[in-house]
Formats: sequence, structure tokens, C-alpha cells
Amino acid sequence: MSETAPEDDTDDVRRAALILALRQRGIRDPRLMRVLETVPRERFVAPEYRALAYADQALPIACGQTISQPVVVALMTERLDLQPRHSVLEVGTGSGYHAAILSRLAGRVVTVERFRGLARSAGERLKELGFDNVEVRLADGTFGDPARAPFDRIVVTAAVPELPPALLAQLLPGGVLVAPVGPAEGPQRLIRFERTPEGLTQRDVMAVRFVPLLPGVAAVL
Ligand code: SAH
Repeated sequence: MSETAPEDDTDDVRRAALILALRQRGIRDPRLMRVLETVPRERFVAPEYRALAYADQALPIACGQTISQPVVVALMTERLDLQPRHSVLEVGTGSGYHAAILSRLAGRVVTVERFRGLARSAGERLKELGFDNVEVRLADGTFGDPARAPFDRIVVTAAVPELPPALLAQLLPGGVLVAPVGPAEGPQRLIRFERTPEGLTQRDVMAVRFVPLLPGVAAVL
């Protein structure tokens, strides 16, 4: 008799299919691939969506938000060129899935969320799963995290009409910032910014659709 519960077998098969799909979409970095294979996305989605945890699609989470599509998480992460010594800021914790991925590739991750409920559940989940180098903060991420700045890398996982100046100010020289820039109703362009000695360079990665970055910490939830 198998030692593994049937649904775990199913997750393994689905995860393998997703990894193959990501490879076909051009994700190549072997370290990132390994991390995508080992972070259990099914633990970051609501139980009713478990069967879709390894489909390459965004899914609803609490507070009317979404867990990003795996290929988008993978591409954003790849464009960050993470090193184990890096200190990373994520704006928009959501489920905590992207923070978990980042934490396996960087030294430490600070992730900021405006919904108390999401920040709390993501924090608990990350702790339970052993992602010990992630700190979840309840705050308006438009202003980054001045107390923990500067950062080697910044990733914004909610759409911004333009780059918030505070985030740029918290990026170290040589640093990279990836963000979806464009109208709240979408689509936006995923842009990779790099702070070089000559100034800020910008590279367009692709079209994306993110929920908008909203002002302030949510009063309820
Ligand atoms: N990275 C997440 C998905 C992000 S969805 C994951 O892996 O699941 C975008 C998130 O940004 C939502 O949770 C939303 O509440 C949050 N958000 C929106 N505006 C924000 C702000 N000003 N500060 C911090 N978080 C914000």
C-alpha cells in the first residue's frame, strides 16, 4: 500500500505538469525551478481551490485579492536576479506564496500587506511551513518599509499607475525593482527598473494583470 495520501500524489503530478509548463514558457534558472518545485502552492490557496493550486492561473484569496499566476511569479522572480545575500522587499503579501519563493533565493524578505487578515494568515502560514527569513508587516506598502530599508531588490505585486518615489528611494545602488505599471483596471506592463551608476534604466518585460495598489491600511479585515 502507498504511504502517500492520494491527494498528495495528485499534487505531485500536477506540480510536475506545472513545472513543465513553466519551462515551456521560458523559465530556465535551475535554482528558481528547484524552488518552484518545492514550495507547496496548495498550502497558500483556499481549500476550495486546492484542485487548481497547480493550474497556471491566478486564484481568489480572502479580502477580494488574488494569489498571482505561477508563470508571473516565476518571471518576476527571475528578473530580480536574486542572490543569497540579498535583502528583498515585497509590496503586497497576499497569500505569502511569492514571499516564500523569494525567501528561498534571497537572504531575507520583508513583505508588506494592507489587510490585517491577509498579513496575519500569511505570517502564520509562512512560519508553520518554516520560511523563517520572511517578516510580514501590516502597512501601506506605497511607502515601503523605511525602518528596514535599503533593499537590494524590491518587487511590487499590485498595480501602480507610476513607480512610488519612496520605493525607489529605498533601493540600493545596483538594485533592481520589478513592478506592474499601468491603470488599475489593467492590463499593466511589467517593468524591470535597475539603479545603475548612470541612472535608472527601465526594461519592459510583458503585459500583466494585477489588482491595484490601494492607499492606506484597510480599516477592517
Ligand atoms: N504576492 C501575493 C499576491 C499579491 S495580490 C501572493 O503571492 O499571493 C496584491 C496584494 O497587494 C493584495 O494582498 C493587496 O491587499 C495588497 N496591497 C494592495 N495595496 C497595498 C498597499 N498599499 N500596501 C500593501 N499591500 C497592498
